[in-house]
Amino acid sequence: MANAALALGTVAGYEKTGGYGSEAGQQPLRDAIVKRFYSEKTKINASEIFVSDGSKCDISRMQQMFGPGRKVAVQDPAYPAYVDSSVINGHCTGYDEKTKRYENIVYMECVPGNDFFPNLEAAKEADIIFFCSPNNPTGAAATRAQCKELVDFANKNGQIVIFDAAYAFYIENPDCPKTIFEIEGAETCCIESCSFSKYAGFTGLRLGWTVVPEALKFADGSSVRFDWNRCMCTAFNGASNVAQGGGLAALSDEGWKSMQETVGFYKENAKMLKKCFEELGFKVYGAVDAPYVWVDFDGRDSWEVFTEILTKTDIVTTPGAGFGPTGDGFVRMSAFCHRENLETAIERLKKEFGK
Ligand SMILES: *Cc1c(COP(=O)(O)O)cnc(C)c1O
Repeated sequence: MANAALALGTVAGYEKTGGYGSEAGQQPLRDAIVKRFYSEKTKINASEIFVSDGSKCDISRMQQMFGPGRKVAVQDPAYPAYVDSSVINGHCTGYDEKTKRYENIVYMECVPGNDFFPNLEAAKEADIIFFCSPNNPTGAAATRAQCKELVDFANKNGQIVIFDAAYAFYIENPDCPKTIFEIEGAETCCIESCSFSKYAGFTGLRLGWTVVPEALKFADGSSVRFDWNRCMCTAFNGASNVAQGGGLAALSDEGWKSMQETVGFYKENAKMLKKCFEELGFKVYGAVDAPYVWVDFDGRDSWEVFTEILTKTDIVTTPGAGFGPTGDGFVRMSAFCHRENLETAIERLKKEFGK
């Protein structure tokens, strides 16, 4: 990445990557993404990869592509950008204070009782289904059978699934696919959004990609990929060349090894945190295929739990209610921290929350 930046200080280097580049990303990076993430188990090729400034940005731009007034289905709880971008883009007709739900959004409950995989029938009328696996915040990863159910459902009902794979690298369960395109039929109903943020710490640098398969068509037969390309060329002008230099380095042999080590370290953190809550007698989920631990506080108001943990231990958690009404009663704890801080946190939690 430093080399990519330095090169911009020379005429030759500037002429190579300095000006406006391909809006969909530099070819070597698109090729490297295919090689690392898709070539083994899918038919995805580089022309279906759109490099961007991150997954959240792509999710919002996608809403622009779909236009207002669509019926959207989300997992509940889920990453807040799906609902919030739906509101901003005019899919919703109002907000119900009592149920804490936006109108015209289908909230698909994901709870321990259904193993965090929703009843899809609730989303039958939806145009767009957002699905995140491994899920933020619950940490649940969908199995191959569950992904197949999702893909078959969407194909049958003519829906587009936005599959958020921001944490795919964290999956260790061999029954869970690391990309939805491992599933037969996904290329006619799925868009996949991915990010360098959670694998290589690119949260501030900004780099991600979205896969829009050639075979994905709107109901009138027109190409989604074509429209997505048009949107990206209009609302975006390509990811920073410096960030793309970093992305290419992250996918080199050395970078790949380093990402695996980093992800492994955070997963170890997550398992330590999970064990801590188990020993304290809590029901706790996640941690195996994700960097998050989802702790069940028996239906207690999650903001109240957040405040209690903060005041007693100086630890910041995320109240489950922030991820949707079904998230209330839980808090999410993140494993993205130094080992030393984690050990201190575990000590304090054990002192204050022993049952
Ligand atoms: C962090 C996160 C993103 C956003 O990633 P960026 O590439 O940094 O925008 C998208 N989806 C989920 C589920 C996330 O947790």
